[in-house]
Amino acid sequence: MPELPEVESLRRSMLDRVVGARIREVHVARPDVVVDELDRPIRDLVVGSLRRHGKLLAIVESGEARTICVHLGMSGRLTIVGNNSPAERHEHVRFSLEAPDGTRIDLAFVDPRRFGGISLHPTWSRAIEQRIAAMGPDALSIDPEALADRLAGRDRPIKSALLDQGLVAGLGNIYVDEVLHLAGVRPSRRCRRVSRATLLEVARLVPVVLEGAIGAGGSTLRDYRDASGRPGSAQTLHRVYGRSGCPCLGCGTTLRSRAIGGRSSCFCPSCQH
Ligand SMILES: [Zn+2]
Repeated sequence: MPELPEVESLRRSMLDRVVGARIREVHVARPDVVVDELDRPIRDLVVGSLRRHGKLLAIVESGEARTICVHLGMSGRLTIVGNNSPAERHEHVRFSLEAPDGTRIDLAFVDPRRFGGISLHPTWSRAIEQRIAAMGPDALSIDPEALADRLAGRDRPIKSALLDQGLVAGLGNIYVDEVLHLAGVRPSRRCRRVSRATLLEVARLVPVVLEGAIGAGGSTLRDYRDASGRPGSAQTLHRVYGRSGCPCLGCGTTLRSRAIGGRSSCFCPSCQH
C-alpha cells in the first residue's frame, strides 16, 4: 500500500510534465471512483501546483482554484501515458493534458482493488475542508516536539497511534515498523508507558526514515510505480518490514511478527522494549 514516501515520489515524478499543463479532456470509465462537487467542468484547468498531505495528492489549479484530490488506496497508480494510448485494465479515469509547448500527454488513474479514488473541489481551501482538515499534521513536516506531544499519555499501542491518520498523516505499516525498530520500541507498547525522551526519539526518526525512502523513490512491494512507471527501491532498505523469521540486522535475534490493531507488525524481541 502506498504510504507517504511513495506518494511524495509520485508527486516529484509528475512535477516537470504536469505543472503548467492544461487539462483538455477528462474521461471517466468508472464514475464511482470520482466524487465531484464542481459546478463547472474540470476542462481547461491549468495545473498550478502538485501538493501532498499525508497520503493524499492534490492537483491544484493556478490561483488555488479547482482542485483534484487523488487517494491511491491500496493499489492505485497515476501514470503518464501517451496521448490517446489504449487504456490498460482497471484504468478508471484519464486526464488529457496539453503542455505550454503544445505537447500532449495523458494521465491515467489505474486502481485494480478500487480502495482509492478521486475527488473534485471548487477551490483548494474547499479541498482542505473536505479532505485534509480531519487529518493530523503531515508526517514529513511535523515538528518532533509536536508529534511527541500528540503521542504522549495515550492508552493505546504506539504502533496504532502512529498509524492513526487523524493523529499524524502519511504513515503506514512499513515505515512505522521501521521507525519503531530504529527507536528500540515494541510496537505493542502503550504510548503512556514510553518515556518522553523515547517518544521524542521516535518523532525525530519519523522524517529521517521517510526522507530515506523518498530518496530511494519509495518502496515497490507489488503495485507501486511513479508517474513514469518506474518502481522504487526503498524496499531494499527495510530492516524489519517483511523480514519476520529473519535475523535482526542489529543483534541477530530472529525477528517476530504479531498483529497489533489488526495490522501485522514485525519487531526484534531483543532490541525493542
Ligand atoms: Zn535486534
